[in-house]
Amino acid sequence: MAERACPRCKYVTFEKVCPLCGTETSSNWTGLIVVIDPDESDLANELNINSPGRYALKVRK
Ligand SMILES: [Zn+2]
Repeated sequence: MAERACPRCKYVTFEKVCPLCGTETSSNWTGLIVVIDPDESDLANELNINSPGRYALKVRK
């Protein structure tokens, strides 16, 4: 089973619905970044990521 990503917050998950924002996830995504400490990460800041986890760079619906 392929992993999916949320088109809204970019969170990567196996769920069909994003556990963070409740948006339906997509299997069409590219790029993966891992955020361990969002408060200390400039990239997380730039992407508006507030929770640790794995995120996609691009998500298509
Ligand atoms: Zn989401």
